[in-house]
Amino acid sequence: MTSIQDNLTAIRSQLVECEKKYVRMPGSVLLLAVSKQQSIENIAQALEMDQTHFGENYLQEALPKIAYFKDKIAWHFIGPIQANKTRKIAEHFQWVHSVADKKIAERLNDQRPDHLPPLNICIQVNIDQEPAKSGVVIEELFPLAEYCRKLPRLNFRGLMAIPEAQKNFSAQKLAFSKLKAQFEKLQEKGFMVDTLSMGMSDDWKAAVSEGATVIRIGAGIFGARI
Ligand SMILES: *Cc1c(COP(=O)(O)O)cnc(C)c1O
Repeated sequence: MTSIQDNLTAIRSQLVECEKKYVRMPGSVLLLAVSKQQSIENIAQALEMDQTHFGENYLQEALPKIAYFKDKIAWHFIGPIQANKTRKIAEHFQWVHSVADKKIAERLNDQRPDHLPPLNICIQVNIDQEPAKSGVVIEELFPLAEYCRKLPRLNFRGLMAIPEAQKNFSAQKLAFSKLKAQFEKLQEKGFMVDTLSMGMSDDWKAAVSEGATVIRIGAGIFGARI
């Protein structure tokens, strides 16, 4: 096995343990491999181990990888979205985790090709209200959710956040619990959401303890990026 395959094996078994520890259903947390800056060879090593969901942040970097692997991989767009990139994103991805305004949502809806199922989307929430970070603030969440729910070519699935990096487990949990609270509020209001995309290499266990259904892991699988 290569080191990528070793890392994947280790994370998978830690995830099984973590689901047990926090009384989550076995298999209820999807491991999304974040392959930004990773070569086709590295992605192929993970795919060989039946890793089939991958996340990319930059459209131009993702397109050749998507063309190479065709429908063997489900691609998730997880980076900030510029308006001039929406058409290709709508054409080539199954998921977008980083919807943060109406204009982008509308363009993705209008540009989603008819022969494909509705595009799965999450709204990105700026959960720590950091000025430099993408995502909507809490006050903007419900109006945007209402808007997305009405767009027929989008399937509004849930929420995503990238909290401030914290070393301490309980501080990590606190940020994730805030996102979970908003997710539950959506469910109470009748939104059919089932996806909480939260947790990265350094904080995913806290995210699983707070109900993450997707964890997005880059360095933990592929090694540190330079
Ligand atoms: C890069 C990135 C990740 C993965 O981060 P790691 O620390 O390498 O696990 C997850 N989510 C988003 C949005 C990212 O940009």
